[in-house]
Amino acid sequence: MTNEELKQFKAAISITSVAQALGVEVSHGRCRCFYPQRHVHGDRTPSVSISEERGYFRCWVCDDVRGDVISLVQMLKNCSFTEALNWLMEQYPFLASNGLRKEVNRAVDSSEAGSVRTREIRADEPAERELVSEDDRKKIILSFLKRLSPIDNTPAAKWLIGRRIYKPSWDKMLLRTITDYESVNNSLKADFGEEVLKYVGLFNDKGHLRYYKHPLIFPYLDRERRAFYFQARAIDSTVLPKELNLRGTVPFPYNMSALDQKPGWVYLCEGAVDTLTFLNQKIEAVGIPGVRNFKTEWLPLFKNKSVVLCLDKDDAGRAGTEYIRGVLEKAGIRSVVLGEGLENIKGVMKEGQDINDWFGGKK
Ligand SMILES: [Zn+2]
Repeated sequence: MTNEELKQFKAAISITSVAQALGVEVSHGRCRCFYPQRHVHGDRTPSVSISEERGYFRCWVCDDVRGDVISLVQMLKNCSFTEALNWLMEQYPFLASNGLRKEVNRAVDSSEAGSVRTREIRADEPAERELVSEDDRKKIILSFLKRLSPIDNTPAAKWLIGRRIYKPSWDKMLLRTITDYESVNNSLKADFGEEVLKYVGLFNDKGHLRYYKHPLIFPYLDRERRAFYFQARAIDSTVLPKELNLRGTVPFPYNMSALDQKPGWVYLCEGAVDTLTFLNQKIEAVGIPGVRNFKTEWLPLFKNKSVVLCLDKDDAGRAGTEYIRGVLEKAGIRSVVLGEGLENIKGVMKEGQDINDWFGGKK
């Protein structure tokens, strides 16, 4: 439980922005070593690589300069694991769940935090990190998406239509589905090998394509309509979790093309299904994969936009709304909450509803 929460917390943070917040100059995933005196010419040519995707940094000269985002804070602030974690939780208050806070406080007494730290650093083995470069990783994701089928006349189409999401939106967002799992699984394995596919997160530990029960794929298109990130969705309602995120940093919100820097309103909701629901109504919307996944690094994308916050009408959604609202406000971005002030009027979202429910989608 503790480790899982800690993992999630770290995964939601951009190691690059943390380094920058602490005064480190990062360029193309590299920065100068924090111990320049150990280097010839004070490390004029930066020796530390920072992997945004993996959340690790490492100096190629100093063996002890390496680790995850927490080790980075420890090193730069010269503090303990617990102090570093507390500092990060202050910087990202919403990401730090109450559970994690309690665990950390408890760990201070039992010094359990120290053992967590050791494990995290050990996970950072050079062989694993260097298996696939970031460019190759993107090519492999692209290659996977190219092997998938359009939605038309598939079970995924039926599922989407049940949610009142129709073909123009499937085409606009290049939705894809896995119709022949075996063939996609085998051809990927033949082309890239099991180890590489596990490393990039497409294959599970058993050496199979992860999306056996999650055949509906939502690619996250960039401005050139290419995708290096996607979410996979189960269409069988008994399957949990409903969605699988690709490991690594979420690069930008779903449907980032709505963030065109032109003045106007954009609706911000949870997940691809709600975003598609809006698009189907010809409403400009972007989606974040889960309330905990709004990244401060995305703020420049929202330039010139005013935001309607439309997260789920439940406790997690409300907490997320509060958080994002605060972040937007600090950045000078105007936001309103969907339905706020209209609680007594018939037809507003009911407790427990999401956007798709509200527009009449069937579960
Ligand atoms: Zn160094």
